[in-house]
Amino acid sequence: MNSPTSQATRLLIMGPPGSGKGTQASLLSEHIGIPAISTGEIFRAIEASNSPESAPVRAIMQSGGYIGDEVTAGLVADRLSQDDCRFGFLLDGYPRTLPQVETLDALLGRSGQTVDAVISLVIDVDDVNGRLLKRADIDGRADDNQETINVRQRVYAEQTAPLLDLYRARGLLVEVDGGGPVQDVAARILTALGR
Ligand code: ADP
Repeated sequence: MNSPTSQATRLLIMGPPGSGKGTQASLLSEHIGIPAISTGEIFRAIEASNSPESAPVRAIMQSGGYIGDEVTAGLVADRLSQDDCRFGFLLDGYPRTLPQVETLDALLGRSGQTVDAVISLVIDVDDVNGRLLKRADIDGRADDNQETINVRQRVYAEQTAPLLDLYRARGLLVEVDGGGPVQDVAARILTALGR
């Protein structure tokens, strides 16, 4: 009989800022019954806390840059070690750099685990800019202003987009058109994953 570990579903979702990966991660995690883990949300919680890390995290997020790989690694390792991740997880926004890929590989490798699939939301830069500015009005996220959006897009293109080739080479990349209504994108993801 298979152990729960071998039946687990371990997914990543990637896409440029404003691609809707947070929204799709929530829907997909509910559908499959695994936790969606957003490093952006973890950092927003730290930002809103009274901890000593709050001010430096806020400064980095408002600049549009990435939090350091070591800090991020510790938070992800803690989260993945929690009980609700034993049947799998969906990581939203991690890994974002090559060292983060190596960290995740090592972390999972320690317990004989691997990533099963990497969902890549494909969307036009002009479309995402409009979405982000609209979200700024609704959610009031401090990093959704034009200046920070430009930096986030550039940092994504330089540091994160190259990871798509890496996962493609591993045969894990599942590319999905991220345009159009939320439910249409969600349906495309499920079809692409064969669920
Ligand atoms: P978006 O993809 O729209 O930029 P996220 O909520 O995923 O939104 O991330 C918001 C911010 O949180 C990022 O701009 C970055 O500063 C920080 N962040 C999130 N995930 C990571 C990560 N894996 N490594 C470093 N910084 C991160």
